[in-house]
Amino acid sequence: MGYKLISTWKMSYHKMGEVKRMLKKKYSLQEIIETVITDVENNPDFHSVGFGGLPNREGVVELDAGYMDGDSLAFGAISAVRNIKNPILVASSLIKDRTNNYLTGKGAEKYAKENGFKTRKMLTKKAQEKYLNKVKEESHDTVCVIGKDLNGSMAVGVSTSGLFMKHPGRVGDSPIIGSGFYCDSQIGGAAATGVGEDIMRGCLSISVVNYMKQGLDAQKACERALFTYLERVNNKPDEISLIALDKDGNYGGCSTLEDFPFVVLDENNEAKLMAYKGKEKRVIETDDQWLANYKGD
Ligand code: ASP
Repeated sequence: MGYKLISTWKMSYHKMGEVKRMLKKKYSLQEIIETVITDVENNPDFHSVGFGGLPNREGVVELDAGYMDGDSLAFGAISAVRNIKNPILVASSLIKDRTNNYLTGKGAEKYAKENGFKTRKMLTKKAQEKYLNKVKEESHDTVCVIGKDLNGSMAVGVSTSGLFMKHPGRVGDSPIIGSGFYCDSQIGGAAATGVGEDIMRGCLSISVVNYMKQGLDAQKACERALFTYLERVNNKPDEISLIALDKDGNYGGCSTLEDFPFVVLDENNEAKLMAYKGKEKRVIETDDQWLANYKGD
């Protein structure tokens, strides 16, 4: 069985295309996932992740990230960190220990600095202008990457700046194991993006994994988890998107949005930009016309 990767949003498309070259070399799955996510974190044009992320209501960028290894079920996560260049690298480094896997705020920053992770002022001019002009843009996304390697080992990583104008200290689903991400190599992995409070109430990533455990493939598991939850909460949440990859290498994506782009990659094909069409409830492969009309990240 070969390599398979799936990631959220168009912002991961470019790097997913590039990491295809890494799949045939001796890179670990963790390195590949980190490469895709750090590329998005370092790009100031993506205003919902890392450098250039949108600030909280006090004008400060606070970042969250998580990582899980599907073989050992070890995980690492950090939340509400300021001035850390690549939160995903800090989160993934925390999987090594038996305890202290999830660090938040000042403690997480202290750990990052003590362990030599790079710091950076994360607020860009563009993000500051949006803040000062109180742009009424409830913009937010999370870059999520799930992968499976040649040996069947699986892992997932996520990184986000969370909701624009959030309360200082607010933490969404992304760094919360079971809500923003979950991965078990014997079953599959899942990750979420959207309004974190709505995702956490449904613990949606573990929900997708549990449906895969019952035998549903990745696509059906995403649909079952999302639609069952929406029914339970009277269809109120309107910004939830899920991706999944099952142990057999099938991928899935599902969303309440009209267009939710995600990227799939394996070693035999170029990266493909797919989209889940929320109104039509189906997955399409995007084309130039779709790209020209799509305005999001
Ligand atoms: N889930 C993230 C949060 O609530 C934001 C997003 O993915 O859109 O912090």
